[in-house]
Amino acid sequence: MSQLPSVPEPVNRLDRERLQAVINNMTEGVLTLDSSCLVTMSNAVALGILDVNDALGKHVDDILHLTDKAGKPVHLAPLIQTQQLGSDKRHLASRDWQLRYADGTTAYIYISVAPVQSAFGQAQYGGYVLLIQDITRDKSLEIERSEFISVASHELRTPVAVAEGYISNALLAAEKEHTPDTIKNALQSAHDQILFLSNMLNDLSTLSRAEQGDLAASMEEFDVNELIDSLLQDFRPQALQKKISFGYVGQKNLGRLASSRLYVHEILQNFITNAIKYTEKGGITLRAKRVEDGVEFSVTDTGIGIGRNEHSKISEKFFRSTDWRVRKINGTGLGLYIAAKLAKLLSGQVSFDSELNKGSTFKLSVPGAATS
Ligand code: ADP
Repeated sequence: MSQLPSVPEPVNRLDRERLQAVINNMTEGVLTLDSSCLVTMSNAVALGILDVNDALGKHVDDILHLTDKAGKPVHLAPLIQTQQLGSDKRHLASRDWQLRYADGTTAYIYISVAPVQSAFGQAQYGGYVLLIQDITRDKSLEIERSEFISVASHELRTPVAVAEGYISNALLAAEKEHTPDTIKNALQSAHDQILFLSNMLNDLSTLSRAEQGDLAASMEEFDVNELIDSLLQDFRPQALQKKISFGYVGQKNLGRLASSRLYVHEILQNFITNAIKYTEKGGITLRAKRVEDGVEFSVTDTGIGIGRNEHSKISEKFFRSTDWRVRKINGTGLGLYIAAKLAKLLSGQVSFDSELNKGSTFKLSVPGAATS
C-alpha cells in the first residue's frame, strides 16, 4: 500500500503565514478555535475588541465574557460543541449579546460562529471560526430609535383618542339632525382616518416594546377560555356589521397557560381583525387545543386569501398584498410582523396556510405549562 507523502514543514509554515496575513487585514475580528475551543489564531481587530494582548491557547469562554439580554452569562463552548449552531446546525449568529470587560464596562458585539469544514462539507480539520464586531454604536441608535417611537406613539395616543371621541359625537349628532349627506360623509371619512391613525399608533408602540424584548414583566398564568370569550365578545359586533359569522370551535376546558396573556391576546387580535378585514362573505372560526407543551390557536376565514407568490413576504415589515381588494382597505403592514416578533418572545411560532379566493388559516402555537 503506497503512503501519501507528508507535507513538508516549510510549506505548512508558508500556508499559515499566508492565512495569518489574510485575517490580519480583515476589518472584522477573527478567532479560530480548535475542537476543544482553544484559540489557534486571532487577528488584531479581535484582540482590540476583547481588550487582550494575546489569545493564543486560551479557552474561548475565558476571553469572551458574554451575557444575554437578561444579563445571564452565555458560555459559547457548550453551545457550539453540542452543535446547537442555529437552525441549519452549521452556523450560529447573534447581535444581542454583550461583552463584559474586567472593569465592569460592556460592549454589544455581533458574533458569528461556524465549524471549519473541508470542501465537501466534512469537518475534516475540526474546530471553529469566529467573527466578532463591536456594534455598540448601532445598538445604541436602535435603542434610541425604539425609545423615540415608544414615547412619540404614547404621547400622540391621547390627542388622537380625544379627536376620535369628538368626531364620533359629531357623527351621532349628524345622524339625528338631518344633516346633509356631504357633511355626514366628510365626518365618516375623518372618523375612518382617525381610527387608522389610532391603530397605527398602537402597532408602533407594540412594535417598540417587542423590539426591546420587554416581555419578562408580562409573564403570568391566565385562563385560556376566558381569553377566547373576551375575543369573541370584542370582535363579534365587527363581524356582524359585515354580515359574517364569528365563532369558536374547540375544548371548553383549556385550563390555564403560563405565558403572556397580553401578547397572546395581541397576536390573536391581529389574526381576527385581519380575518374580518379581508373577508366579504362566509365566516371566521377561532380554534384552540391543548398540545403536549402548551396551546395551539388558529383563526380560519373564508376571505380573499393570499396568492402563493406572496406567501414568503407575509411577515415582512410593512408588507401589504398588491391585491386591489387589500389596497382599498386601510392597513399598515405591521400587524403580522409584530405578531411574529411577539410569538418569538414567547418562544412560540406563527404559521399560516392560505389559498387565493378560498381563505386563510393563521396559527399560533404557544409553549407553556398548562394547568387545569
Ligand atoms: P395590514 O392588515 O395592516 O395590512 P398585516 O401585517 O396584519 O397588515 O398583514 C399584512 C398583509 O397580509 C395584509 O396587507 C394582507 O395583504 C395579508 N393578510 C393578512 N391577513 C390576511 C387574511 N386573513 N386574508 C387575506 N390576506 C391577509
